[in-house]
Amino acid sequence: MPRFKRQRLRDIPCVEVPKGHYSDAPSFGRVVRDKDGRKIATVRSDLPPRIKRHVALHERVHIKYGGGEIKTNLISAALDPIGFINTAFATVRNKERIRYYINRIKWFLKNKNKTNG
Ligand SMILES: [Zn+2]
Repeated sequence: MPRFKRQRLRDIPCVEVPKGHYSDAPSFGRVVRDKDGRKIATVRSDLPPRIKRHVALHERVHIKYGGGEIKTNLISAALDPIGFINTAFATVRNKERIRYYINRIKWFLKNKNKTNG
């Protein structure tokens, strides 16, 4: 396994956005593209500092190493285990996010049934 250096991750730009910036989902953070098409990390400005730091790290890992949520969570948890646990608990406490995940699961089950005929 390669060594993941936090210093280089920090070179990836991350900007803060207000709560409600992501209209389609109550995300804590997200990867977006700037006007030149470069990927940048975004994180919600209203989050507690420790969680904000971890979300910024998580989004930067998405940009640097690619891959889905499992890979990204494994890398970001290895780099910042305390931040990962705090963020996981914040997710569980957040009703909007729970609703969002329930709706996603419902959508998945509905569409899975459709494709299975
Ligand atoms: Zn992610």
